[in-house]
Amino acid sequence: MRKISIMAAALVVLLTFFSCGSKFTPGTYKGGAPGIHGEDVVLEVTVDKKKITKITVLENHETPGVSDAAFDRIPKKIMETQSLDVDTVSGATYSSKAILGAVTKALEAAGADIKALSAGKKKAEADAVTAATQVLNADVVIIGAGGAGLAAAVSANQNGASVIVLEKMPQVGGNTIISGSAFNAADPSRQIPQGIEDSTEKHFEQTLKGGDNLGNPVLVRTLVENAYPTLQWLESLGMEFQDHVFTVLGGLWPRAHKPVKPLGTGYIETYMNYINAHDGITVITDTKVTDIYLEEGRASVVKGQGQNGTIVAQGHKAVIVATGGFGANVDLREKYNKFWPSLVNIGTTNHPGATGDGLGLAEKVGADLVGLEYIQLLPMGDPVTGSLSGNIEQAVENRIFINKSGNRFVDEGQRRDVMTRALFEQEDSFMWIVLDSHNYPTMDTKNNFNETIQELVDQNRAVMADTLDELAVKMNVDADNLKAAVADFNRAVETGGPDGFGRTLFQYKMDTPPYFAGGRKPTVHHTMGGIRINEKAQVLDQDGNIIPGLYAAGETTGGIHGSNRLGGNALADINVFGKIAGANAAAEN
Ligand code: ADP
Repeated sequence: MRKISIMAAALVVLLTFFSCGSKFTPGTYKGGAPGIHGEDVVLEVTVDKKKITKITVLENHETPGVSDAAFDRIPKKIMETQSLDVDTVSGATYSSKAILGAVTKALEAAGADIKALSAGKKKAEADAVTAATQVLNADVVIIGAGGAGLAAAVSANQNGASVIVLEKMPQVGGNTIISGSAFNAADPSRQIPQGIEDSTEKHFEQTLKGGDNLGNPVLVRTLVENAYPTLQWLESLGMEFQDHVFTVLGGLWPRAHKPVKPLGTGYIETYMNYINAHDGITVITDTKVTDIYLEEGRASVVKGQGQNGTIVAQGHKAVIVATGGFGANVDLREKYNKFWPSLVNIGTTNHPGATGDGLGLAEKVGADLVGLEYIQLLPMGDPVTGSLSGNIEQAVENRIFINKSGNRFVDEGQRRDVMTRALFEQEDSFMWIVLDSHNYPTMDTKNNFNETIQELVDQNRAVMADTLDELAVKMNVDADNLKAAVADFNRAVETGGPDGFGRTLFQYKMDTPPYFAGGRKPTVHHTMGGIRINEKAQVLDQDGNIIPGLYAAGETTGGIHGSNRLGGNALADINVFGKIAGANAAAEN
């Protein structure tokens, strides 16, 4: 007995000794690590002897909106678990890793045993929340909180419906928030002062022809006729577009509107501002919808898996599928791809949630799926990540594509599929975008992804030179070829083309140094196929019958863009059909 109590006493002493041992040297320490654009996330970590007591973010150049959940959650999780063994936030992986990296640096400075902190049991996981089922009710249930889903939510609310939006990712925005954001609309108020001739008819013809006449003309008509009114609707909600209308990559005509805010953040902010300022719309993130159920032949119940268990949402009027495309789902890409070389090792511009969930959800309740083989690639992927960031082009008219031999190889104003197919035929499927300072009058000028040209040059994602000879050296291409390519281009600018490649879109001569070049590769961008709908955004079955109560909008739908979507038509599509779906869903009995 006595022996045991002596041993116990010794153990207590030992335990006390160890628990008294300090883990950190108390103080506040700074740490930094590179985020998505290569710039450091810098933060400050305060520790006492045993605990991390505070984490403050000092500098952050991450994409607004996209990285919010990471900044909100990761520092909290680190504090809560007192560990670095914390999951990254899906959809914000780069930012998550930057935060974890910066905290690690700060804790190293505080003398912490990083290995021990990183090997800890994920306490949050160990404390697994007990699964419960939550039943929610609204007039309209929307699956997916990207552009189409949020447009539908606002529109349904404006038409008197209560709305629940279920989003599987930790943040709203989907692909829309990281998109190039160009919105095509024939818009006399902006185009006439710029001397641009346009009409909805021209938009209609180009959209249909640009998709090899495989789109449904009724849906194309709905798209082009509602594009400008929907842009005005967005403006009425507070969204700002620049006055200058331009030709976006593969857009074929100067009718693209560029938001004032970077990337697609303006759309999502506009919708979320409305949602936050009005009653009747609940947006629930971290909830992956797994099933839609029909009740008496009518779509009305949606089941999803949330952070705290199952969510069953009853849509008394309707259910809207707005889950986006499947560009990030390699298996589905392989299953449906008919026209490209294997896409297994090709990057994507898409967020990781673009896995085509809506296709299975809708098909199970009888929806027809159309055009799944039409997968859009861009010749514009970051060579490492496949993302659009780092793209230096400002407008189609003012840049050329140069291969590794220093030569042009395609009409750079062509359709996206034509340009990407041509790129696949070049050495290493690699090209440089080359342009001059007409596009970047100052080093502070930003590209469409909120990156200044100075940042891109500093990070080696673009090269810059005062002469084409010097630029060729930095690009590692033949200087004579590059100079001949630019001279040819400049001659065509003078005559207005068409040049030897058939190019007709020109604006300025490329003659004003400094010159810039940025490398690009093919990347999977958009999936044209999906759920079959009619012009009211109602989902149809294989016989063309309406599935009562079921709507779909955005990239999850098919049949609008045919075999090739025009650049600038996606933002028009998701907003137009999202708005239509919301209004019609609200009008159901
Ligand atoms: P669109 O441009 O058509 O609106 P986005 O990609 O912008 O497409 O938005 C689609 C949204 O749907 C994304 O935020 C995505 O995470 C979400 N989503 C996809 N599948 C599901 C699912 N099973 N449950 C809930 N949300 C989903």
